[in-house]
Amino acid sequence: MSDDCIFCSIISGDIPGRVVAETDDALAFLDANPLAPGHALVVPKAHTERLADLGADESRAVFDLVHDLVPDVEAAVDADGLNVGINDGEAAGQEVPHVHVHLVPRFESDGGSPIHAVAGERPDLDDDDLDDIAARIEG
Ligand code: 5GP
Ligand code: ZN
Repeated sequence: MSDDCIFCSIISGDIPGRVVAETDDALAFLDANPLAPGHALVVPKAHTERLADLGADESRAVFDLVHDLVPDVEAAVDADGLNVGINDGEAAGQEVPHVHVHLVPRFESDGGSPIHAVAGERPDLDDDDLDDIAARIEG
């Protein structure tokens, strides 16, 4: 628990949150400033800033809850689809430094975009560049 973390305060019950699901290691609650009806956040209960810092058990707990919740959220607001995303790091738009998975219900003709719209201009990469990047990730 981090004293100055808003999500830790929701997890501990110090500030109210519209909790929609809970397991031993993960919690889900509605986003206070929703992008769509049903916009929910799934967080590990342990304060962890970046995805890579999550332990294997916490990671499983978070993604298991995401998996369980997707159909429930979609049905609750009669959505046509749903985007699942994580802003991991400030450069990616992370504002609250406690890992959270966004579940954003989507509706036909809601005027939104697919997840491809999150990045900036598309890079100009040839086959060698792609091979090189793949090799570096593979390590
Ligand atoms: P980020 O940009 O870090 O990925 O998203 C943070 C999310 O947390 C935003 O969608 C924002 O609306 C939500 N949020 C910020 N403060 C609170 C809060 O106090 N309660 C809840 N439920 N959501 C919050
Ligand atoms: Zn926290």
